[in-house]
Amino acid sequence: MPSAMDPHIKEALAARLRFYRDLGLTELYRRPVDPELLERLGASIGTQVSESRPFDKLRAGSGAPAPEIDVAEENETIPRKTIAMPSVFASADAPADRVAALRIIREDIGECTRCALHKGRNKLVFADGSPDARLMFVGEGPGADEDAQGLPFVGRAGQLLNNMITAMGLKREEVYIANVVKCRPPGNRTPEPEEANTCVPFLFRQIDVVRPEVIVALGATAATYLLGQRQPLAGLRGRVHSFRNSKLIVTYHPAFLLRDPRQKKEAWADLQIAMRELGLQLPSRG
Ligand code: URA
Repeated sequence: MPSAMDPHIKEALAARLRFYRDLGLTELYRRPVDPELLERLGASIGTQVSESRPFDKLRAGSGAPAPEIDVAEENETIPRKTIAMPSVFASADAPADRVAALRIIREDIGECTRCALHKGRNKLVFADGSPDARLMFVGEGPGADEDAQGLPFVGRAGQLLNNMITAMGLKREEVYIANVVKCRPPGNRTPEPEEANTCVPFLFRQIDVVRPEVIVALGATAATYLLGQRQPLAGLRGRVHSFRNSKLIVTYHPAFLLRDPRQKKEAWADLQIAMRELGLQLPSRG
């Protein structure tokens, strides 16, 4: 009779299979497993798991807008395409040693030329913030400042995002910030489906490593590629979706809020949903 699988190995395998599915690989075959390798893998995963997360002290519980970016028909499925395989089997998706696992993802991306966006790139923008974050923000793609510095959300929209994070009672270093695409689209245009579909599996791997309790999708592009379908932002805001093992909340992109500050109130309502899900204290009224 087969013995029960260690839950950490099971989780790592499930994350790996999800990654393969994202790549479009659905046909797998089995070959005999080297028991020594299994044992080594089990030991490394088992010893790496740590449950301590930033702002645990604030923990109590758990576990929308006029569209900013062009939004098309409802329920339009986003086409998927395959990309290069990751270079390692073990640990890239294990939640355990998150720093090492994220480094592996960054190495897998390398000096990327998988899509046309690399041609105009100065710096590839991987992510910023804590690998142990309970809260993750996902934007669309780097702008000029991000492309120059190699960090997400460091321009004007980033300043507003920082203010939003502070308003939630958090520090930027406590959250994790990444984008759908890691290279700047020319003229800050919306990434083409070909570009986004090529890049987004790396974002999914980052999410599988960080395992945030809550993800906030900033704008229609992030919402579209996380939810896997295009829908008007207005219908997605104001409620809790799920993505993998995380709760997903959709709100306006800070760049949109800079153009239409009247919507900040709505965005703040969305952030309060995120706070509630994280068990963070809401500011008292009045
Ligand atoms: N806009 C984004 O979507 N991401 C960034 O990193 C900066 C601006």
